[in-house]
Amino acid sequence: MPSTIPLQDATVYGPIRSRRFGHSLGINVLPVSHKVCSSNCVYCQYGWTLPGGASTERLKRAPALLAEIAVAFARHAAAGTPVDCITLAGNGEPTLHPDLLELVVGIKRLRDRCFPSASVGILSDATQVAHPAVRQALAQCDARYLKFDAADEATWRRINQPLVAVEFQAMVAWLKTLPDIVLQSLFMQGSYDNTGEPHLRAWVAAVGEIRPRSVQVYTIDRGTAAPGILEVPRETLQAIADRLTASTGIPAEVFD
Ligand code: SF4
Repeated sequence: MPSTIPLQDATVYGPIRSRRFGHSLGINVLPVSHKVCSSNCVYCQYGWTLPGGASTERLKRAPALLAEIAVAFARHAAAGTPVDCITLAGNGEPTLHPDLLELVVGIKRLRDRCFPSASVGILSDATQVAHPAVRQALAQCDARYLKFDAADEATWRRINQPLVAVEFQAMVAWLKTLPDIVLQSLFMQGSYDNTGEPHLRAWVAAVGEIRPRSVQVYTIDRGTAAPGILEVPRETLQAIADRLTASTGIPAEVFD
């Protein structure tokens, strides 16, 4: 397994080609010198979430970020870069940005100008969904991808290691209220394992209660923060996806 990857070094990065998103132009609204996240997932491709430490880099506010995004979008449009979607993700948890709604609205306006057929999506660890401003911003996105790797408080704390004062069941209750969401569930084995039978049974039940539009099932494909984490064979991922759909009727797709 390769090592973890460096942080994104710009506000607009990519496009990244993936089976899940096609050509995805990434938007990083967070610093470039350190990760800012409400989770500390053991499998994070960027390594552990560490304190900002000596970094003096300040969070850029929406006007500065949108000015940079406008320049980058115009450059990609002029170059004919293929863009299927624009995804807020980057160096941590985008919903922590205080100007998220302004950013989403501004990015959609720039999208209309430069890549009218592209959707605007957001990847989130779901820890902030209780905040009205975050729910408002999520509602403005064309697509919402919420992390859901664990089915109980203990597994969530072990795998995703939330760094904010949120309780698992409260987060699940808020997820149930969000319309038209896609859950992303990463499965792993080795030093951390969420593929055991009792956990899978609980995960199917929890996803069935949340009733997302669909679920993306996947595994690690890069280095991880914690050592000893192993990827899950594709057949096992497919069996998990099939079991979810058979039991709940919710579409589930395996990506690698
Ligand atoms: S939520 Fe994403 S960025 Fe944050 S620690 Fe987990 S995998 Fe890394």
